[in-house]
Amino acid sequence: MSHAVFIGLGSNLSDPIQQVTQSIKELGTLKNCTLIRASSLYETPPMGPQDQPNYVNAVVEIETELSPQALLLTLQTLENQHARTRDTGKWEARTLDLDILHYEGVQSTDATLTLPHSGLHKRNFVLYPLLEISPHLNIPNLGKIAQLIEQLNEPIPTIVQPKSLDK
Ligand code: AMP
Repeated sequence: MSHAVFIGLGSNLSDPIQQVTQSIKELGTLKNCTLIRASSLYETPPMGPQDQPNYVNAVVEIETELSPQALLLTLQTLENQHARTRDTGKWEARTLDLDILHYEGVQSTDATLTLPHSGLHKRNFVLYPLLEISPHLNIPNLGKIAQLIEQLNEPIPTIVQPKSLDK
């Protein structure tokens, strides 16, 4: 059975636009996954330590037959293939960060996989791309994306690469 899943992408090292563009393509070629939609690419200031480059962020929707845990492992493998290192602190610069934002029908408070993602409603670089690709999405226990944007009350991040028309 196939599930709709939303994944957040972020990069601020080693040509971030290329890292995010390439990994969107790679997400579309994963076994048991189909790329449905990809947002524009947005540029946002870093969270945490400010002495690092700005981030490039995007969100994609996929359909997958992978379980949430299997998908998490697959995404971590993809991060590793992009030379992601994990020996740095929580907010440190990274070549590629892939987060499962929302997995249709699943809620979890497990620290290794929290669903919906614990930062979903706190980040404008997640909410605006989500609104772009799925304006009617309703997140369990949180609500509709437009309402979450209103509550967060932060400006729209700058688009550095508009959504491709062919997606
Ligand atoms: P990060 O620094 O964003 O790469 O955090 C990775 C850690 O967050 C991993 O140890 C994951 O097990 C954990 N994690 C918890 N919930 C999620 C989620 N929804 N998506 C991705 N990673 C998650």
